[in-house]
Amino acid sequence: MVGENYDARKLGSGGHAWTNWAGHQSCRPRDLIRVSGVGELAEVVGAAGAAGRQITTVGSGHSFTPTALSDDLLLDISRISGVISADRDSGLVEVGAGTVLADLNRELDHLGLAMPNLGDIDRQTIAGAVSTGTHGTGRALPNISAQIEKARIMGADGEIRELEPGSDGLLAARVAVGSLGVLVSVTLRTVPAFNLHRVDAPMDLDQVLAGFDRITEENEHFEFFVFPYTRTALTLIRNRTDQPLAPRSQADRFLGDVVVENGLGDLALRLTGRFRSAIPKMARFSTGFMSQSEQIDVSHRVFANYRTIRFNEMEYALPAEHGPEALDRVLELIETENFPLAMPIECRISAGDDALISQAHERPTVYIAVHQHRTMEYEPYFREIERIFREYDGRPHWGKLHFRTAEDLAPSFPRWADFQKVRDELDPNRNFSNAYVTEVLGA
Ligand SMILES: Cc1cc2nc3c(=O)[nH]c(=O)nc-3n(C[C@H](O)[C@H](O)[C@H](O)COP(=O)(O)OP(=O)(O)OC[C@H]3O[C@@H](n4cnc5c(N)ncnc54)[C@H](O)[C@@H]3O)c2cc1C
Repeated sequence: MVGENYDARKLGSGGHAWTNWAGHQSCRPRDLIRVSGVGELAEVVGAAGAAGRQITTVGSGHSFTPTALSDDLLLDISRISGVISADRDSGLVEVGAGTVLADLNRELDHLGLAMPNLGDIDRQTIAGAVSTGTHGTGRALPNISAQIEKARIMGADGEIRELEPGSDGLLAARVAVGSLGVLVSVTLRTVPAFNLHRVDAPMDLDQVLAGFDRITEENEHFEFFVFPYTRTALTLIRNRTDQPLAPRSQADRFLGDVVVENGLGDLALRLTGRFRSAIPKMARFSTGFMSQSEQIDVSHRVFANYRTIRFNEMEYALPAEHGPEALDRVLELIETENFPLAMPIECRISAGDDALISQAHERPTVYIAVHQHRTMEYEPYFREIERIFREYDGRPHWGKLHFRTAEDLAPSFPRWADFQKVRDELDPNRNFSNAYVTEVLGA
């Protein structure tokens, strides 16, 4: 099973329906094939390539964009997973590309190793996560793809190519939106296992924005959430610690994540969605319940949250120096135009990296994400907010909703042409270009 949302029902017509986690993207590929291993993958991909078919590989379906859709051949490589080899001294670990992050984290833990930074859930596959530029937060820490030291990728001829450190091939394949072939394995540079002390606390938004540089320099991982119509941020600070473990109890998890978030939170969002005028009051009400909490645990358990409410999301990567100003403008737009956005906005930070079409390519980055409950309309509001992000040369997260095309994206990425050169070499016939890839990377 690839992920919790995986939906590969056989329909009456003999086709297969596939739907993403949020439920808004779906397709009915001619074939949906879960390969048993690399040998079968080579046979299937080689035959499809020879027949000129369009091939897309799906991870856990956690992207909000149509990036994992195909009308033709959809490949599930969940059986190409697990640690293939590990060198504890160097920290280099080769893993199957279909490995789900939660499983990767557990296996690394057993080896006394860990990923230095992670996003806020662990349901994605490693290949899916890196392909869209998935990131966590931390001023000095780049996105997950920056941990890739080497990779093995299969082309439409069914042959595997080794992508070596420093090559343009590797810099392109680290974040490639599925466009270059099927990643078969990646070699990750991991670090010795570590524990994190996490403190969640409400803070005055103006103080957070004014002190953003200092706070993000003083703390290894900092992010915050803010409800439109309020000026209180819920800040999340995580730093390494040698203090004894003080994990969240099962009862606390159940009460917080299942009862409050999934039960009450989901119900409140559905109701406020129908009564637009109630959103500011609901936002202020929810902010009143924010309180301080602490946790000390193994790093991956602190990074990962349960996300039980299903939503749609747009996230933009902005030059870090413009982050606080852009966030303030987004809040102002939502409030003055009375947009019915009842979920909080999330703000994170990362170091730049050198992957050719990474959202953080060669620039320190602040990420701003807006969310909308899956039962509510998002497009007109996200489109208006996107205008603000574009004023700052924002780059969209490849796995999160946006309304951009290759033509207007190209000038944002200084090494766009080098990426296209690698694409021409690795996928000259565009077997790996689905409609989304063609839209955002060109034909
Ligand atoms: C609740 C939730 C929380 C999230 N949190 C974060 C976060 O904290 N930070 C963040 O940056 N993003 C976050 N995301 C976005 C998510 O990390 C990305 O969309 C990610 O790409 C999803 O991984 P996946 O395994 O589900 O891949 P999919 O969505 O299934 O696929 C993503 C892309 O990877 C390609 N792909 C998959 N496998 C391969 C392969 N073997 N070879 C080549 N291409 C492949 C697909 O073709 C597609 O283009 C979140 C999403 C959700 C729903």
